[in-house]
Parts: sequence; structure tokens; C-alpha cells
Amino acid sequence: MKYLVLIAVLVLAYMLWRNARLAERAARDAAAPPRQPPVAGPQDMVSCAVCGLHLPQSEAVTDAKGLAYCSQEHRLLAGG
Ligand SMILES: [Zn+2]
Repeated sequence: MKYLVLIAVLVLAYMLWRNARLAERAARDAAAPPRQPPVAGPQDMVSCAVCGLHLPQSEAVTDAKGLAYCSQEHRLLAGG
């Protein structure tokens, strides 16, 4: 009878340990969502005020008036 209690305690301890492990893994999975590659979203395209070349806004050179240019040279050419 003593052994029965001991086994019961051991089984209980094992179940608690297993539960804790599962909970820990679930928490870790929830904390780290599946990694997704950074997707380049649709970029705003602008056209150069001098030559009309279309380029992403992030690569454009803008002047004080907010006009976009394809390069520093064209910005200077436009007098901006
Ligand atoms: Zn240009």
C-alpha cells in the first residue's frame, strides 16, 4: 500500500512536469509567431520633374517644394 501511494505521487509529479513543459512550449510558440520574410509593400512611384523617369519615392530626390527628381543633378537642373 505504501508503494501504491509512492507510485501515485510519482505519476502525479510526472503529469505536472509534462503539463508544465507543454505550457512552456505553448507560451514560447505564442511569443514567437512564425517568422515571415519582410515583404516589400507596394511603393509609391514618383516621376522625375525634369525627365519624367518613374522611380520609387524612397529613391527619389525631393526639393523644398516636394517635387521629385531622379537624381541630384536633375534637382539642381530644375533650380530646386
Ligand atoms: Zn530626371
